[in-house]
Amino acid sequence: MRYSGLKVITEGLFGNKGWKPAWRNPAPKAEYDAIIIGGGGHGLSTAYYLAKNHGMTNIAVLEKGYLGGGNVGRNTTIVRANYFLPGNTEFYSHSLKLWEGLESELNYNVMHSQRGLINLFHSDGQRDAFARRGNAMINHGDDAVLLDRDGVREMLPYLDFEQTRFPIYGGLLHARGGSARHDAVAWGYARGADMRGVDLIQNCEVTGIDIENGKVVGVQTTRGAIKAKKVGMIAAGRSGQVAAMAGMRLPIESHVLQAFVTEGLKPVIDHVISFGMGHFYISQSDKGGLVFGGDLDFYASYAARGNLPMVEHVMEAGMTLMPMIGRAKVLRSWGGIMDMTPDGSPIIDKTHIEGLYIDCGWNYGGFKAVPASGWCMSHLMATDTTHELAKRFRLDRFATGHLLDEEGTGSQHNQH
Ligand SMILES: Cc1cc2nc3c(=O)[nH]c(=O)nc-3n(C[C@H](O)[C@H](O)[C@H](O)COP(=O)(O)OP(=O)(O)OC[C@H]3O[C@@H](n4cnc5c(N)ncnc54)[C@H](O)[C@@H]3O)c2cc1C
Repeated sequence: MRYSGLKVITEGLFGNKGWKPAWRNPAPKAEYDAIIIGGGGHGLSTAYYLAKNHGMTNIAVLEKGYLGGGNVGRNTTIVRANYFLPGNTEFYSHSLKLWEGLESELNYNVMHSQRGLINLFHSDGQRDAFARRGNAMINHGDDAVLLDRDGVREMLPYLDFEQTRFPIYGGLLHARGGSARHDAVAWGYARGADMRGVDLIQNCEVTGIDIENGKVVGVQTTRGAIKAKKVGMIAAGRSGQVAAMAGMRLPIESHVLQAFVTEGLKPVIDHVISFGMGHFYISQSDKGGLVFGGDLDFYASYAARGNLPMVEHVMEAGMTLMPMIGRAKVLRSWGGIMDMTPDGSPIIDKTHIEGLYIDCGWNYGGFKAVPASGWCMSHLMATDTTHELAKRFRLDRFATGHLLDEEGTGSQHNQH
């Protein structure tokens, strides 16, 4: 079924009786050409591009819960291409280009909104770092504008410019940055993959990976054994547990990241804003809720909820930056399990077991990576060769020391 404005109107006129389920609910087959463990954004986009770009349709996505119930439906939806380091810059730049055509590609309204992202800076040193980042982005063909204090004030007059502790010096505007509706992205890729013949199997937890003579031959699941010569482990926060089924110990720690949403308000914040002196960022959803978050809870955990010290930190940072939000009531908060690598950059690679591939380590930033990750992981699984854009995302870099440091846990966390 093709979705269109006309379809919405005609269905509305005739009682909405003609809509079909967005994907089938198949029973698992005994054997597939390839299996993907994990029905999050990355697993579903990999399945979609395996079918679309590489003609592999005898494949299954095995999801232990329901599609979109993991981090892909729990994140704060920021989509941007303002990464600094070679390796990450080209990957995220490609991802944003895929985002820009995603709705027509999937025939699905993912509510991608390029409302502009502004990273604030609060010192001369931070301004230099953002100027350098902006130049790297422009050199790569992406957009960046360095705003001075008055430029920021014109766009975001409600920030507290008078506070003396963390004065706002300016901001780096990335106009093509913005947000999208998180679970719609999962649903759009799921529908597109299903239409191309991919079996999406929910409530099917992988409990073991079968390996014979150094080659993968299939998986054990709560719905029986399934054979496959190729298996992609794409389980985000659970990557360490899944890889352990193949006897692997990953350079991954799983941590909780929390997010918050307020009651619906009239439109007040029309950009994505990131505070530079405390981990706090905010945007407003189309329903009116202020959506905001901060840093990790900083302890390893598989619990998808956080604790009060980080709640306090996030609220303090928000109040420092824009005291007006103190009057909004927080409606909900939740947590997701983040697959953190020591250098903050992802892994898309083969493993030492033939036919077993891994895509993980998305840290705080894997939502925006969903299209490019599927693009590169499907290339790897279909052709057994690494895509040019993912060539630095090697698993062995943690052994050889060729790190790609881009965020808060690494040695140069100023480059996040
Ligand atoms: C609060 C929060 C805010 C965030 N904000 C942003 C943001 O603004 N921008 C951004 O780019 N990123 C953001 N992220 C990060 C982003 O959400 C993740 O990096 C990304 O979603 C992870 O990839 P995924 O979608 O494939 O993960 P998931 O959706 O978690 O998918 C993994 C799937 O694997 C399944 N699985 C696990 N084990 C098994 C098993 N044994 N068998 C079968 N299935 C299994 C899980 O059930 C899950 O559905 C945020 C994350 C959180 C938690």
